Amino acid sequence: MKETPGDIKTYRKDLQRALSNKFLGATLDAFAGSYPASRASAFSGIDFEALADEIARAKDESIPRFAELLEEFTARAQEAGAVVHFARTAFEANSIIASIAEENGVRRIVKSKSMTAEETFLNAHLERAGYEVTETDLGEWIIQLRGEGPSHMVMPAIHLSRGEVAELFTKVTGKPQDPDDIGGMVTVARTELRRKFLEADMGISGANFAIAQNGAIAMVTNEGNGRLVTTLPRVHVALVGVDKLVPDVKSALRILKALPRNATGQLISTYVTWITGAVECTPAPDSKKQMHIVFLDNGRLALSRDPVFSRALRCIRCGACANVCPIYKLVGGHNYGHVYIGAIGLVLTWFYHGRENARALVENCLNCRACKSVCPAGIDLPHLIKEVHRAILDVEGKRPAKNVLLETVLQNRRLFHFLLRTVSHAQAPVAEGGYLRHLPLIFSEEHDFRRLPALAKVPLRDKWEQINPATPNPRVKVALFGGCLTDFVYPEQGEALLTVCRDLGVRFEYPVEQTCCGLPALMAGEKETARRVAVQNIKALDPADFDFVLTLCASCGSHLKDYANLLSGEPLSGVKAAQLKDKVIDFSSFLIRVLKVDPNQFRTGGAKTAYHSPCHLCRGQGVRVEPRELISTAGFEYVPSKDEEVCCGFGGSYSLDFPEISAELLKRKLDNYEASGAEVLVTDCPGCVLQLQGGMAKRGGRIAVKHIAELVAANRKG
Ligand code: SF4
Ligand code: SF4
Repeated sequence: MKETPGDIKTYRKDLQRALSNKFLGATLDAFAGSYPASRASAFSGIDFEALADEIARAKDESIPRFAELLEEFTARAQEAGAVVHFARTAFEANSIIASIAEENGVRRIVKSKSMTAEETFLNAHLERAGYEVTETDLGEWIIQLRGEGPSHMVMPAIHLSRGEVAELFTKVTGKPQDPDDIGGMVTVARTELRRKFLEADMGISGANFAIAQNGAIAMVTNEGNGRLVTTLPRVHVALVGVDKLVPDVKSALRILKALPRNATGQLISTYVTWITGAVECTPAPDSKKQMHIVFLDNGRLALSRDPVFSRALRCIRCGACANVCPIYKLVGGHNYGHVYIGAIGLVLTWFYHGRENARALVENCLNCRACKSVCPAGIDLPHLIKEVHRAILDVEGKRPAKNVLLETVLQNRRLFHFLLRTVSHAQAPVAEGGYLRHLPLIFSEEHDFRRLPALAKVPLRDKWEQINPATPNPRVKVALFGGCLTDFVYPEQGEALLTVCRDLGVRFEYPVEQTCCGLPALMAGEKETARRVAVQNIKALDPADFDFVLTLCASCGSHLKDYANLLSGEPLSGVKAAQLKDKVIDFSSFLIRVLKVDPNQFRTGGAKTAYHSPCHLCRGQGVRVEPRELISTAGFEYVPSKDEEVCCGFGGSYSLDFPEISAELLKRKLDNYEASGAEVLVTDCPGCVLQLQGGMAKRGGRIAVKHIAELVAANRKG
């Protein structure tokens, strides 16, 4: 198993290699393209959110009871003739399995797919001890023959082409294999593997559930190999993480309702195998199979006691958090996780495979929340990823220069804004038409995939008094939260807001003590800085003084709402943060739901307009309908485009840390919008504007990119 580089520089080289693999890109793209529709169809008629809530609740009840469930399971399984073992570490689990093999005179072992066995590197251990181990899941067999680890939890060989498989099978059989004859290659696998099943003395499987109520284990599989592994050989060993313990059959069935649907878009997998105890087995000396169940702790019990990270143990290993992750879709599992891949891999790697393997991985997250939105166990994966990042920095006690800078500058609003004003003056010789003429020297060529905007000559806060009209007897009182980009880069977006809302009875205020929302600090693992900045903003912007707190930035809006979690338990700011959560509103929702604007207030015949849905608006705040409705209400023709809800690749400082990924995501977005036939592209986040507008300018594209407030303002009558 390859180590994941701990330093970003080497890790980025791996990413670049993966990005240049055209087959990988095409195959992941094809799967990602079909997965959402199959998943939606599989869940049709099922309330996914409610099911995820039920699974999360049940898991949260089981997690603190693992020891008790294990005891109950052991008693029932032993009654049924199984032998139950407990391993504290991966090494102990491997040693127990090797001893079982030795005691039973085993030479040949067949195995079905098990992520837990991947976690313990079981095959390598057994092979070193002289056993012949054969993986029998087709994908797993292929990667075993290639000496690789899986690149997906459910589809381990998704990264390989049939050409590569044909070449491999040619070597295995000594006969040339035709890459176009898939049936022929399946026959090769079947012939080779059937022989292995018949010769094997021992079968090793994993399990999706271990049911305390009756001591049964269950496996959810799509190939018949799992059944052959657990029935043909005279000894069966199931390696099971203690997190697979559930109290009863009902709990297992609840998970089963979500697992295949979420994993592959199947209503049910081809096989669901339930095994209770030792059964008859002809090759066994006494005609009775030996059945061993080895429970693996490997840190799970300690994890189960952690108030934050215990949530990771809710995972049912469906792999969906990889299926929808925009980064996984570009670079595949070998570069997006260690053994466990996808979003959950970024969390579990630290616990099961150490800091070195996790350090660079946890930074490779856009915080786009796509993973969270499909997790059937309701795990807030982006939050856990940030917590792991913070914990690694804490343990190492070393903080990157970027973090020290963020801490120093963000906590001191006056210093921060002084620096921005200084840069704004200093950039004058290199600013042209709203963009910098060339990249600042600190950036390498890889960052030149988009044009960067110049800072505004006058920030929004400095012109606010002149542009904000007096509104006597307002019907709503609104605080505008600018955020760094609207304030210092795109003040015209704030001006557009005032234009749209003029004469509509809104009194806006711009509390000048507000500062950056603090999300960049949180993303860099600086939770304490993020908390201090949040307290400053709560003081600047007392929610009790306003009916709404409006922001034109989706990321700021989502993060302001999240202050309630960040400051929960703090004596006063915690209460204010909870109050703030209910008052934060985005531009489109404010116009559609609060002001209830109608088409008579706008001119008609506007341009064909496409929409980019910011991650922190659609998934972060659940706002999807209002922006599209506003485009039409304001007199424009809304043009749907492919992947509107997929991240544009900005992710704040992510685009600076991982420019190759950011550039590729941006390219795909812009290609989709150009294919839509739109003349204008709007979004409701200045960060997405920076990315999409800069990318469009760099490629000399014909589509005008702007904030939705600017679009709507330009069409307001009068
Ligand atoms: S974290 Fe959630 S989405 Fe990811 S594999 Fe686990 S259960 Fe599935
Ligand atoms: S937040 Fe987005 S980028 Fe990060 S792991 Fe989840 S899906 Fe991937």
